[in-house]
Amino acid sequence: MNVYDGQRIAAMLTARGMKQTDDVSAADIIILNTCAVRAKATDKVFSALGRIRNAKKADALFGIVGCVAREAGADAFRRIPELNFVLGPQSYHKLPEILENPDTKLLNIDLGGLEKFDELPQMEKSPAVAYIPIQEGCNHCCTYCIVPYTRGREISRSFNDVIKDVNHAAQTGAIEICFLGQNVNGYKYTDSDGAIYRLSDLIRETAKLDAIKRIRFTSSYPTEMTDDLIDMFRTEPKLLPFLNLPIQSGSQNVLTRMNRPYSLDLYIDIVDKLKSARSDIQISSDFIVGFPGETDEDFEQTMDIVKRVRYINSYSFKYSPRPHTAAAVMPNQIPESIKAKRLAILDSYLNEIQRDFNLSCVGKKLNCLYEGPDKTGKHLVYRTPYMQQCIIDSIDGNIPSMTMIEITAANKASLRGKIAKPD
Ligand code: SAH
Repeated sequence: MNVYDGQRIAAMLTARGMKQTDDVSAADIIILNTCAVRAKATDKVFSALGRIRNAKKADALFGIVGCVAREAGADAFRRIPELNFVLGPQSYHKLPEILENPDTKLLNIDLGGLEKFDELPQMEKSPAVAYIPIQEGCNHCCTYCIVPYTRGREISRSFNDVIKDVNHAAQTGAIEICFLGQNVNGYKYTDSDGAIYRLSDLIRETAKLDAIKRIRFTSSYPTEMTDDLIDMFRTEPKLLPFLNLPIQSGSQNVLTRMNRPYSLDLYIDIVDKLKSARSDIQISSDFIVGFPGETDEDFEQTMDIVKRVRYINSYSFKYSPRPHTAAAVMPNQIPESIKAKRLAILDSYLNEIQRDFNLSCVGKKLNCLYEGPDKTGKHLVYRTPYMQQCIIDSIDGNIPSMTMIEITAANKASLRGKIAKPD
C-alpha cells in the first residue's frame, strides 16, 4: 500500500513538472512516506528526519505523509520544528498546497475516505506490477493494530472505479494486477440498483483483459475467504496459486485476546478448501509473537500450526505496543528477551520450510515475471508465481517480460534458473 501511495505522490509531483532524485542535498522537496504498524518503523522515521534536516538545502520543503503523520499529528512539528508538512494516508493529495504556500505549516490528518482517488492524477505509465487499492481502512478491530486509527473505517471503492484503474493500468504497461486492501477479501460494493460486487467479481472482470497475465491480492482476513473467492482459484488460471492468509497466532486464547474470533478448525478448513480448489496453492502468513499474556504453551501452538500448514514466505514480528490500541494496556506484557527468543525459534523454522519449498522447485518450470536487473547488472531478476526471486544470467536481445524458467538451483533466499526451451 505504501508503494502505491509513493507512486501516486511521485505522479502528482511529476505532473507539476518535478523530477525524482535520490540525492537529499539536491532535492527541493523531501517526502517521507511512512508506516506506523510497529514502534520501530515510527522511530526510524524520526531519526531519518533528524538526518535529513542536516543534509537538505536550506530552503527545501520537507515533511511526512502516511500513517506516522496521522499517528504523530501536530506533535511532529514540535519534535522537528523545521518540518513543513504532515499529511495522513487519506490526505496526501493535499500536498500541492505546500508548494503554493511554502511559508506555512501544512497539517492535515483527516480521514477523507475515498476522496484522494478522485483528486490524484493517473500515472502516465504503469509499472509491470500495478497495485490497485480497492478499499480504504479496516473494520476488524484487532487489539494490537493501529491501522483502524490511522486509515479509518473500511470503505470499498466502486466496482466501476476499480475497473477503470485496471483498464488504465493494462493499457499503459501492467502485466500483473495486485488488488490492495487492509481487509481485501472483505471487499463489498453495492451499486445504486442494489447489485453487490465482491472481490471475485473484480478478479473475473480483470482476467478478461489480454494484457493482464497475473492477478493477486493482499491482505486477506481468514473468515472473509468466502466460497465464491475460493472458487476463483479453481476456475481462473491467471489468479496466482499463492495467498497471504495471516493467522497471527496458533493459540485460540491468544486469538481471542487479539479480537480475531475465528476458530483454528475453521482456519484449517479454509486452507483445505483452498488446496482442493487448486492443488499447487501455497499459503503464507503473518505472525505476532509475544502478544500480552502469551505463554510457552501458546507459542508451541503457533509452532504446531506452522508445522501443519507449512507456510512459505511468511512475515513474523515481535509484538509492539501501539498507541490507540487495546492490547497496549493489557496486563502481562511479555519481556523483550522472551519475545526475541520466540521470534528466533519461529523464524528459523519458517526459513527451513522456505528453503525446503525452494529446493522442491528445482527441476520445475515456472512462469515468471521480469522485475529488473540485479545490482551487478550481470543477472536478471524474475518473480515466480509464489513471489520467489528467481535469478538468471543476462541475455542478449529482448528481455521477455513473462517467460517460462527452468529452476536449476535454490537456497533459502532465492532460486536460480534459465529460460526454458519450449516443450
Ligand atoms: N491488514 C493488514 C495489516 C497491516 S499490518 C494485514 O493484514 O496485513 C501487517 C502485519 O503487521 C499484521 O498482519 C501483523 O502481523 C503485524 N502487526 C500489526 N500490528 C502489530 C503490532 N502492534 N506488533 C507487531 N506486529 C504487528
